Amino acid sequence: MQESNSAGKSIESYCGRCKVNLDHTIMTMAGEAVAKVRCKSCGSTHKFRGVVDALKIPKPRAKKAGGETATAQIIWETGLAEARGRERDYDMAAKYRVGDVVNHSTFGKGIVMKLFANKCEMLFKDRERLMASTN
Ligand SMILES: [Zn+2]
Repeated sequence: MQESNSAGKSIESYCGRCKVNLDHTIMTMAGEAVAKVRCKSCGSTHKFRGVVDALKIPKPRAKKAGGETATAQIIWETGLAEARGRERDYDMAAKYRVGDVVNHSTFGKGIVMKLFANKCEMLFKDRERLMASTN
């Protein structure tokens, strides 16, 4: 028994942005096939992918730095949870230590990952950025 799909109906599809199977709204059809869907969770419109077996989704490795957004976000969340509590507003004249939490007016919360001369690598929710600092 299969209900026929049509634009405006709900369908479960893998969302490349959320990285999980989620409820989507069918946006366009290509004949009998679902063409484009919109994620109800993040609102992005993308090609219908069907439901992806969780086992086929590569598990993000917490160690890999500078990878794709999902990996960065997990490191970011983990980093924030484990940060040793030194949280302050971002200031390029400040000295930072690895593990410090920085509040940036544009990028939000970041974690200091690496220190370089006069800059440091901070991990924000979306990706890593090199930020000026006084090391
Ligand atoms: Zn989504």
